[in-house]
Amino acid sequence: MASFGKFRWISRQFTTHPSAPLRICVVGSGPAGFYTAEKILKAHEKVEVDIIDRLPTPFGLVRSGVAPDHPETKIVTNQFSRAARNERCSFFGNVCLGSSVTLPELREMYNAVVLAYGAESDRSLGIPGEELAGIYAAREFVWWYNGHPDCRNLDPDLKSTDTAVIFGQGNVALDVARILLRPTAELARTDIASHALAALEESSIRKVYLVGRRGPVQAACTAKELREVLGIKDLRIHIQPADLVTTPTDEVCRSDIHLLTWFHVGYLIIHWTDSLFVYMITWAKIEMKNNRIRKRVYELLSKAVTPAHAPHPAQRELHFVFFRKPDKFLESNDRSGHLGGVQLEKTILKGKCASYTSACEGLAWLSLKSIGYKSIAIDDLPFDSDKGIVTNIGGRVLSDASKDHMQYETGLYVCGWLKRGPTGIIGTNLYCAEETLACISDDVVKGVLTSNSPKPGRDGLLQLLDSRNTRVVTFDAWEKIDAEERRRGNLKNKPREKLTTWEELLKVVSE
Ligand code: NAP
Repeated sequence: MASFGKFRWISRQFTTHPSAPLRICVVGSGPAGFYTAEKILKAHEKVEVDIIDRLPTPFGLVRSGVAPDHPETKIVTNQFSRAARNERCSFFGNVCLGSSVTLPELREMYNAVVLAYGAESDRSLGIPGEELAGIYAAREFVWWYNGHPDCRNLDPDLKSTDTAVIFGQGNVALDVARILLRPTAELARTDIASHALAALEESSIRKVYLVGRRGPVQAACTAKELREVLGIKDLRIHIQPADLVTTPTDEVCRSDIHLLTWFHVGYLIIHWTDSLFVYMITWAKIEMKNNRIRKRVYELLSKAVTPAHAPHPAQRELHFVFFRKPDKFLESNDRSGHLGGVQLEKTILKGKCASYTSACEGLAWLSLKSIGYKSIAIDDLPFDSDKGIVTNIGGRVLSDASKDHMQYETGLYVCGWLKRGPTGIIGTNLYCAEETLACISDDVVKGVLTSNSPKPGRDGLLQLLDSRNTRVVTFDAWEKIDAEERRRGNLKNKPREKLTTWEELLKVVSE
């Protein structure tokens, strides 16, 4: 490749530089990338850090993942911006690893590369009908309401049904449920994308089902987020009382709790009788004792149910459905290729069994899979497909992980969801970055990482990108986007009005 030949020439030029700094490239400008960059800059006075991101905008999950009604979580971008403005740090947006620049090229140009590009795909359920229209990954829906340019045109149909079914009961599922159910007047004051606000204002969705394959004690959400969704104004909460039954006698230890048997049940929406569940959830007491958060979640759910006799100003309903997993998505009879219903299976936890028969009925035209994000492998990166992570120990990338032969990729590190899987809050990445930094520092001390063979770093990268006509978006250029979004937001009395297409974003940069 001609341009790459040019880059090799630059590389040779730089080998004669007398006191070159160690040059590190961080791939991904989300929390993992920025925390890593910040920590490297603090720990090593002579290191230069360049952060690249495939989007023209920085901050990854903070911008595209954090819900618009959680502005306090986004304050961390001030800290990230300070890091980006450090004279030893640069941000280059609109630079995609794999197409704008390959990993081998980056490794040639930098002394070290830290991969922190997160998880931009989704786990799948692997069941029939998953490809039907009307079924979305929660990530896509989140990107849509957060104005991610890749999901600008998602256009979920919120008008043809009054019911949305969300699979999974983690915090992402709760975010999605909250956005679907929260009064839009409240959302209008947030930085929600305007196309999403308009669609939600016209939405017919009145009922949201949150379906979990385990019980209320195992629901993957945290108490704060649960409290928030339960607190939505004029919302009726439905939980089958039998799902909340626990007994103190069960002595199943926590490690034994896993799904054992699946029984076929039927379709959503399900109406069942309490008496069918008398054997359920007896293990839960033990698990609650072991875990304060689980206990709190269970307590909140127990108290949340809206009494049947309560006055009914509520326009909207949130149903928590436990011990169910989707078995098959069913095609609509009226709309070819479109979701018409969901067949569920009943799940039973080990050690406890319940027979079940049910009269069930129901239709669903909107379904969201919130069962976890997934990282994508690039180039020849050592990748554990089962776990969806780059093979690593503590952040050092392993080229060979066989038991008798542990070999690291020199100068290649990983951080964030790509390193440990898609779990944890923004702050978790701080500790993750510290661990990766420790590997880098250790390799500097051991002489594995040195600047004895100077690398071209950012000059080489920019020259290469220029030769490929890549329009790099620097941090200064991002600040133009930022200012424009704030200006537009100001006109609508919201923190920012996000630019949501690639064209708009790049246009503002070049103005
Ligand atoms: P998560 O917390 O791992 O939850 C995934 C959910 O999907 C669980 O309920 C899980 O059930 C279920 N699931 C997985 N595979 C399934 C399958 N094959 N069939 C049916 N259900 C399945 O993931 P997440 O909600 O995507 O969140 C990712 C991370 O971001 C979490 O650590 C979360 O706390 C964090 N986050 C935090 C906030 C916040 O702090 N406000 C907001 C959003 C996200 P099992 O439990 O049975 O596996």
